Amino acid sequence: MTGTSTQPAAGSHETPLLGSVIDGVAHTAGEQVEDLDPAHHGGVVARWARADAEAAEKAVVAAAEAAGRWAGTPAPLRGAVLRRAADLLEQRVTGVARDLTREEGKTVGEAEGEVKRAAAILRYFAAEALAPDGETVPSHGNDTLLYARRVPLGVVSVITPWNFPIAIPAWKIAPALAYGNAVVWKPSELTPLTSCHLASVLHEAGLPDGVLNMVLAYGQDVGDVLVAHSRVAALSFTGSTATGRRIARRAAAAMTPVQLELGGKNPAIVLADADLDHAAEQVARGAFLSTGQKCTATSRVIVENSVLSEFTDRLVTKAEAWRVGDPLDRATVLGPLASQGQYERVRQLLSSAEATGAERLTAPRRVPDDGWYMAPEVYRCDAANLLAREEVFGPVAAVFPAADFDDAVYQANDTPYGLTAALFTTDLGRALRFVDRVQAGVVKINQETAGLEFQVPFGGMRASSSGPREQGNAAREFYTQWKTVYIDY
Ligand code: NAD
Repeated sequence: MTGTSTQPAAGSHETPLLGSVIDGVAHTAGEQVEDLDPAHHGGVVARWARADAEAAEKAVVAAAEAAGRWAGTPAPLRGAVLRRAADLLEQRVTGVARDLTREEGKTVGEAEGEVKRAAAILRYFAAEALAPDGETVPSHGNDTLLYARRVPLGVVSVITPWNFPIAIPAWKIAPALAYGNAVVWKPSELTPLTSCHLASVLHEAGLPDGVLNMVLAYGQDVGDVLVAHSRVAALSFTGSTATGRRIARRAAAAMTPVQLELGGKNPAIVLADADLDHAAEQVARGAFLSTGQKCTATSRVIVENSVLSEFTDRLVTKAEAWRVGDPLDRATVLGPLASQGQYERVRQLLSSAEATGAERLTAPRRVPDDGWYMAPEVYRCDAANLLAREEVFGPVAAVFPAADFDDAVYQANDTPYGLTAALFTTDLGRALRFVDRVQAGVVKINQETAGLEFQVPFGGMRASSSGPREQGNAAREFYTQWKTVYIDY
């Protein structure tokens, strides 16, 4: 960055003032908003200066002006910037992870895993920048060279949620940059500090000013500019289905191509022939880790009747034993929910579910009351209950009985979503039939529904996603476009 940087050192014990970074300059003037610690009521991790639509407009213009030079930078040099940023992030894992935990609430072990993942993603796309970028095709003409190449789009807007505040931005920003685009990024208002750390490593690694612009703002203040500005070529969004719908309508009117990664209601089926100990461990991990706040979390557990109580007892035992507490304490398995709003939404959903017949199987237990903590819960309910339909985004597993394999697959598909799905079985034929029949973008056999590798495509079916897939070499499809060239020689 060329401007005065006020961006903080990772893991600092001070309360920094954070600002948007536009054309390499940090902007900290204007209204300040507190970045709250969900593990300690009243704890303030940082303050951030709230950007408005005018700032977003400046960010788009800065990106548009930088885009041509960046697209003209040889791909190996673009890749080298990403690799240096990965090195810097790895050197700072401990401090960045600590800050991530303090503002988002996931355990520090999970946060460290996420920061390391982000570094690995930067490195993966550094290499992808050098992958073949087109094809030559025989022409009908004499002495004609006919080829098609993938070329950058120009300015890409990136809007991200709080639940993976560094991995999700990395898996959007890294391919956008590797393939030669300039970016305007609006991170979640709940995780500005982690966002500043990602922007800092990219700038310190030598990314030219204006190529990545970070706008710290509320979505409603800047959304229209990021979605519909005439100089924005495409938008990649991850967040709730409700926000995604709003953005899709606005983008359609402006003819902005979008990639939307939205909610899920992911099923895990446990068949009678499964290893029940393994299934219970994997279902508990999928449902409760990160306090259930993963789009890929297991939220419906569909269990063959003959093993229903045997399996459910195992799952309840884990839910009752897993330690809830301070996410910076390495003995903790579940930290708090990410915010007061998130806590109130989950509590409200569970009260409504109980009022309409969901039976709680986990015994009440005390959790710390100085943050937004809740214990993991297991419910048994029927297919009409809202726990069969609504994304909870909290540490909650809802168990549904199934008559047999066919009934279980029917229930798994009985949702508007289709992000991830898992089956636990020792029967290879059923496993493969499940892969064929389940409507989900990611299918796991004998593995939890959450947990992704970055070198393969990721995305959902139906209401969980829209547009081309993210991650792996599939990312090229969204972040580039074809240019077809005819040369008569
Ligand atoms: P959210 O929709 O509230 O916010 C996501 C982002 O959109 C934030 O940066 C927010 O500021 C911004 N935003 C809000 N209103 C906007 C508007 N009008 N215009 C433009 N931007 C706007 O979601 P969240 O609470 O941050 O994240 C949780 C949700 O994200 C869950 O539903 C979860 O399933 C989903 N998610 C999906 C995936 C996936 O890959 N499918 C991954 C992670 C999270």
